[in-house]
Amino acid sequence: MPQGRERITIVGASLAGYWAAETLRRDGFEGAISLIGDEAHEPYDRPPLSKKYLAGDVERDRVDLGNAEKLAALDLDLRLGQRATGLDVAARTLEVDRVAEPFDGLIIATGARCRTLPGTDGVAGVHTLRTVDDADAVRTAMDAGARRMVVVGAGFIGAEVASTAVGRGLAVTMVEALEAPFGRVLGVEMGAVLADVHRSHGVDLRTGVGVDEVLTGPDGGVGTRVVGVRLADGSEVACDLLVAGIGVIPNVDWLEGSGLEVADGVVCDETCLAAPGVVAAGDVARWTNARYGESMRVEHWDNAVQQGVHAARRLLQSDEEAQPFTPVPWFWSDQYDRKVQLAGRTHPDAEVRVVTGSVDEHRFVTYYGLGGRFLGALGMNRPRHVMQSKGLLEQDASWDEALAFAADWD
Ligand SMILES: Cc1cc2nc3c(=O)[nH]c(=O)nc-3n(C[C@H](O)[C@H](O)[C@H](O)COP(=O)(O)OP(=O)(O)OC[C@H]3O[C@@H](n4cnc5c(N)ncnc54)[C@H](O)[C@@H]3O)c2cc1C
Repeated sequence: MPQGRERITIVGASLAGYWAAETLRRDGFEGAISLIGDEAHEPYDRPPLSKKYLAGDVERDRVDLGNAEKLAALDLDLRLGQRATGLDVAARTLEVDRVAEPFDGLIIATGARCRTLPGTDGVAGVHTLRTVDDADAVRTAMDAGARRMVVVGAGFIGAEVASTAVGRGLAVTMVEALEAPFGRVLGVEMGAVLADVHRSHGVDLRTGVGVDEVLTGPDGGVGTRVVGVRLADGSEVACDLLVAGIGVIPNVDWLEGSGLEVADGVVCDETCLAAPGVVAAGDVARWTNARYGESMRVEHWDNAVQQGVHAARRLLQSDEEAQPFTPVPWFWSDQYDRKVQLAGRTHPDAEVRVVTGSVDEHRFVTYYGLGGRFLGALGMNRPRHVMQSKGLLEQDASWDEALAFAADWD
């Protein structure tokens, strides 16, 4: 371990921050660890917020990360409801709620926040979904009898909210500006399969059309409330609840003037180091993934966990001991009774081949390949096959090797 690292501060008390703290202790760090988070809640998990928690199928205690005993065992200086407001890397000081404090090592895990629809601030019935408070607000609106939901953006969060709302009996219209929902992530062909899944569950999916205006009416004499949206093709859709799932912005504003390089995330080297004694992890981190020779920022659960672990270790290692962080990205999404998983990546020019199962039955694995290289595997209700494919991707299997492997499945 580098000399003199006695006090490590983690900013962001969520998934990456929690795993970083856990790793420091597991790897024997005995110094002080401050875990600072601007939310009022102890660390919790976000995936259930658009799925079982939103549906009302699980309660608050089921989304906590760890439990009270585990947290206590980590012996943290846990500071909730406090915000990092500035950083001076050269002086080794962090500013928390405008008061400067020293650190020896710093882990930046401030994640990301939702983009919002312009002009909708304070409009009742308009929501985004990032925090448990956001989920509570949408859940409360559904409990109170909301009937018609518009989901803006057919990305994974929007699609999960649509699926949960359908399960709760709401009429859902999902609006996506791109021609194919999920097209950017899965490619047009597989995006169309997911579109079919939603339509077959009764979602009115409008693609290739944006929202021009959020329509509002009076809200019981105080303020305004959403009553619908006007789309770019002139059509109007009525609703009493709107959820915007239009992407996120990394939380880096507080790092202005810190001395760190910020470019759509905290820029790190291959080992997750942003500056001597400063690392970043999770949705906020942009690092060079040596596996692909590319700078990337990944917004998935598994990445936040693995990078939290890696970044914490990096802080305890010397430059000579440091290892590059080279994951194959992986995520899952639950929509209706389908589990969608993507291991690796896609590419607009990739060959797309169904290697097992049936697209029409919404149970299959598709491989993506380009230039003889195996790029990624998309699965619907085929978790075992996707995880086996992830193993192949980690071994840098060729396209032919991957196809030969999958040929044994049927
Ligand atoms: C509703 C939802 C469903 C999801 N479902 C899936 C899924 O099914 N599969 C999947 O792979 N991924 C899923 N994800 C993504 C996954 O949850 C994220 O990738 C993960 O939460 C990222 O963790 P993080 O710790 O990097 O950032 P975050 O979870 O965003 O946490 C960052 C924390 O830092 C705090 N913070 C920000 N700025 C400051 C500051 N200046 N000072 C102090 N604290 C600060 C934030 O308030 C937040 O608490 C989902 C995300 C959401 C929102």
